[in-house]
Amino acid sequence: MEEYIRAGKIASEVREYARKKYHVGRTLLDICEELEQMIISKGAKPAFPCNVSLNEIAAHYTAEPNDERIVKDGDLLKIDIGVHVNGYIADTAVTVCYDTRYESLVNATEIALQEAIKIVRSGVNASDIGKVIEDTVKRHGFIPIHNLTGHSLSQYIVHAGKSIPNIRTYTGFLLLENEAYAIEPFLTTKDGNGLVVNGNIRNIFSLVSRKNIGNKDADALKEYIWNRFKMLPFTTRWLTKDYDIKHLNLLLELLLKKKAIRSYPILVEANKKYVAQAEHTVIPKENSALVITL
Ligand code: MN
Ligand code: MN
Repeated sequence: MEEYIRAGKIASEVREYARKKYHVGRTLLDICEELEQMIISKGAKPAFPCNVSLNEIAAHYTAEPNDERIVKDGDLLKIDIGVHVNGYIADTAVTVCYDTRYESLVNATEIALQEAIKIVRSGVNASDIGKVIEDTVKRHGFIPIHNLTGHSLSQYIVHAGKSIPNIRTYTGFLLLENEAYAIEPFLTTKDGNGLVVNGNIRNIFSLVSRKNIGNKDADALKEYIWNRFKMLPFTTRWLTKDYDIKHLNLLLELLLKKKAIRSYPILVEANKKYVAQAEHTVIPKENSALVITL
């Protein structure tokens, strides 16, 4: 619990810094590196590469090693931060908005998250959280992304098997006291599809198996990944200090083909409409939620 609280406090400080900073004109690379470095300088580690997903990209974009993409006026930028202390993860996100037309979308996302957190306590049904999010979102004239969810967290595991829906569902589960959960509504505009689909960029990976695949270099990389990140997500950018980029990409391809690692493709709104996200990590208690990323 102490480690969760430390991770949550750091994640919250980095998120608030990211919320207040003016990012227009900065590269996505600069933003990722600054926020990840900030996590490290506060004595924790990134639980996954900082996600900087623009506009119709809902999630899973992190900067490439020499990424020159720049935040522009008019952009809607989701910054999703993971911090871990000894594997105990705090997961939190904020949307920064450089187009006044999307301010109400961002506000509704924050309100949906707050409304959801109000009903969290041990024994609440995840489906009821989804219902609160869906109702709140619709009341504000937007739609939730149906196929993105929050999730349970456990030591060194970001998605620990249970999903917190952003819509009412007909199956659910009861949240447990002292288990950590990320709640993360994603909203889009009324002309959106309400679903995300895989895009063709994938620069976030995680280890799935430590079984040797029979290629010396690839197996060495696999063990290097295990030693540095365990099963937590990582990105090419984090490996280029120790690996030549071309060689690295070939080895990652091989590890992917042999199913030793998996990739997380970017997730794009199916109608290419803009998406906003807000996220906190909560730990249910008997009568309320402890929001570790508050
Ligand atoms: Mn997140
Ligand atoms: Mn999450």
